[in-house]
Amino acid sequence: MKHIAVIGAGTMGNGIAHTFAQKGFKVNLIDISEAALEKGVNTIAKNLDRMVAKEKITAADKEATLHNISKITDLAKGVSNADLVVEAATENIDLKLKIFKQLDESSPKNAILATNTSSISITKIAAATERPEAVIGMHFMNPVPIMKLVEVIRGYNTSDDVTNTVMELSKQLGKTPTEVNDYPGFVANRILMPMINEAIETLYNGVAGVVEIDTVMKLGMAHPMGPLQLADFIGLDVCLSILHVMYDGFKNPKYAPCPLLVNMVQAGKFGVKSGEGFYDYANSRKAEVVSAQFS
Ligand code: NAD
Repeated sequence: MKHIAVIGAGTMGNGIAHTFAQKGFKVNLIDISEAALEKGVNTIAKNLDRMVAKEKITAADKEATLHNISKITDLAKGVSNADLVVEAATENIDLKLKIFKQLDESSPKNAILATNTSSISITKIAAATERPEAVIGMHFMNPVPIMKLVEVIRGYNTSDDVTNTVMELSKQLGKTPTEVNDYPGFVANRILMPMINEAIETLYNGVAGVVEIDTVMKLGMAHPMGPLQLADFIGLDVCLSILHVMYDGFKNPKYAPCPLLVNMVQAGKFGVKSGEGFYDYANSRKAEVVSAQFS
């Protein structure tokens, strides 16, 4: 494994590109938007600067990492020499099916095609290709350079060889890979999203306010961040869409999204990325309670 293609230069894509490039892999970072590529590489440079300042890496390591990354807008060209493709484009089933069909046509026949999807079926994505045995989930966590877990998701047809290669590769990145099977929410979100949904339900029922709920979980359960703040960081729109996938996939009412979550998404309150969710991020990333409605 030498050449990695990363599709999408957004939050996850730039973190994935950063992580591979820092370990010496040659990375083609591919996005349809030049602006997204520019922003993605700037984010990587800023994150590397922070690591240099903390003396975790040297200035030469930073330069070498940036040197390993090429920005590309042409997907066919960007994946033509890839040993592994990691797709981290927008979470949309039709888009992912289209991208995987293109990847199958344009990447080398022996390339592994991985997706960073949070919730879409790996088996369904694999069915858009002629090589379902080589399609796998490689679910990195945000922020990618820091978080240790890679949830490695086997689709129905994913081969043992491909799974073992991706497990080994994740270890080479300094991560801890964990193998799971392809069912709605996989493991991470199947457990996390009902907790977040229940925290929102607790707020909706007036049991406690935003800060109180987060404080109980932080100080009582030793969670580094409360569930409502975590939801703001993940994106309330993303949480809602994952809950829909689990609700539809299991036909079980326990995954039904709380009406307050639905309302907030409809009102454009997506969390950190929109400037407001359960907390207010308009002026800084420092969380201030949106107290008027809920406290
Ligand atoms: P994002 O919106 O920050 O970035 C998506 C990028 O994909 C954008 O830059 C967009 O221009 C690009 N894109 C769209 N269509 C494209 C195409 N056809 N070809 C190339 N690039 C294209 O999204 P994100 O938060 O980075 O999420 C990406 C994926 O990672 C999603 O599948 C999401 O479910 C998953 N994920 C997200 C998180 C998270 O915390 N944000 C965590 C784990 C997994």
